[in-house]
Amino acid sequence: MDVCVVGAGPVGGVLACRLARAGLKVAVVDRAALPPMENPSFDGRAYAIAAGSRGLLEEAGVWAALPLPVGPIEQIRVSDGKPGRPASPLFLHFDHEDLGGAPLGWMVEARSLRVALNRVLHESPGLAVHAPARAQISRSAAGAEVSLDDGTRFSARLVVASEGRESPLRRQAGITAARWAYPQAGIVCAIAHDKPHNHTALEHFLPAGPFAQLPMACGEDGENLSAIVWTERASRAPRLMALEDAAFAAEIAVRLGDHLGAIRVVGRRWVYPLSAMYVHRLVGQRLAVVGDAAHGIHPIAGQGLNLGLRDAIALSGLVIGAFAAGEDVGAPALLARYQRARRVDNVSMLLATDGLDRLFSTDNPVVRLARDVGIGAVHRMPGLKRAFMRQAMGLS
Ligand SMILES: Cc1cc2nc3c(=O)[nH]c(=O)nc-3n(C[C@H](O)[C@H](O)[C@H](O)COP(=O)(O)OP(=O)(O)OC[C@H]3O[C@@H](n4cnc5c(N)ncnc54)[C@H](O)[C@@H]3O)c2cc1C
Repeated sequence: MDVCVVGAGPVGGVLACRLARAGLKVAVVDRAALPPMENPSFDGRAYAIAAGSRGLLEEAGVWAALPLPVGPIEQIRVSDGKPGRPASPLFLHFDHEDLGGAPLGWMVEARSLRVALNRVLHESPGLAVHAPARAQISRSAAGAEVSLDDGTRFSARLVVASEGRESPLRRQAGITAARWAYPQAGIVCAIAHDKPHNHTALEHFLPAGPFAQLPMACGEDGENLSAIVWTERASRAPRLMALEDAAFAAEIAVRLGDHLGAIRVVGRRWVYPLSAMYVHRLVGQRLAVVGDAAHGIHPIAGQGLNLGLRDAIALSGLVIGAFAAGEDVGAPALLARYQRARRVDNVSMLLATDGLDRLFSTDNPVVRLARDVGIGAVHRMPGLKRAFMRQAMGLS
């Protein structure tokens, strides 16, 4: 094998498909089964995919395999306010027309991405899927030896750790990580609403944390749908999660406002503890760390998966280049280049999302005034606004 990818979540899975499409021999190992799925039911989770990430999904053959329509995001309104009160008149409005008319991003249902990924993983020539399976891996300067719990053994030039936040491979390599927890929980669900969203996303900064409504494609019966990503004080989340549907929808309506008309919750509700993580190294001998194994950020800007997919873009570019040139795809110089390429983006996104959360999750009137003035200033500076948009779209 050229590459063994351990962890077939969205980042590891897409990376494996991209490498296999370029002609590399790739093994994918996941502890969970990756069955081909026909019609998994709606579960209320969706990802905001930026333009750069979409490019990688296309190159990996995954975008064309998505079984459900995607919802373009054409406008984003960022405002500051309190639940039940009108938003501050100072808000940021990002319009796709300011950047040439292409959508600012796309809402992709999590189940749709999973179905597409599992299909492409199983159908890609040169790609061997081992799931469910556990891998024992020993790495040396010469290469990596992989043995699976079903007795399969193979060697690889490069191992990719993409097993999510708790990455065993990262720990085994002695790579340390600094973590901090936020006193907040992320509540995720989907709503159906009477009025159309006009492909407009809303990010509403409330004292307990940001509240986002993201425009999804219409449901099968033509219903208007949006995803909700709602940051709440961790101590309040269990009480909110235990509410009856109507009372839970009323809590959403207080935060959302009435611009979408009557709303109701569809699919399941999910709650996640929120924490951030800084990983001290992204590489080891014959090892590259990607995705949530390589960083953890606050979901304030919905950028966690996009950041991970940018790791996959950087690593696949280097590996495919080395493979085409007949070079070693796990060489120390290549891994050092990968680490250099990703360091600045990872750290700046970690600091930006952490800083945004601290700046916005407060009721301090001085901080509120300062940030409202800042929001107003960005709104009046088209160049700066376009730079923010390009960054959020993964185009910078
Ligand atoms: C509330 C919330 C909302 C979010 N919203 C967004 C959003 O709108 N947009 C966005 O871009 N991101 C969002 N994110 C972040 C996004 O969900 C993650 O960044 C993304 O899932 C990371 O993908 P990954 O492939 O790196 O890891 P994971 O999704 O964690 O996948 C890890 C994979 O590794 C496997 N695995 C684990 N351990 C092992 C092992 N020992 N051996 C083999 N396999 C193993 C698992 O089975 C799994 O398949 C959100 C996160 C939260 C918490």
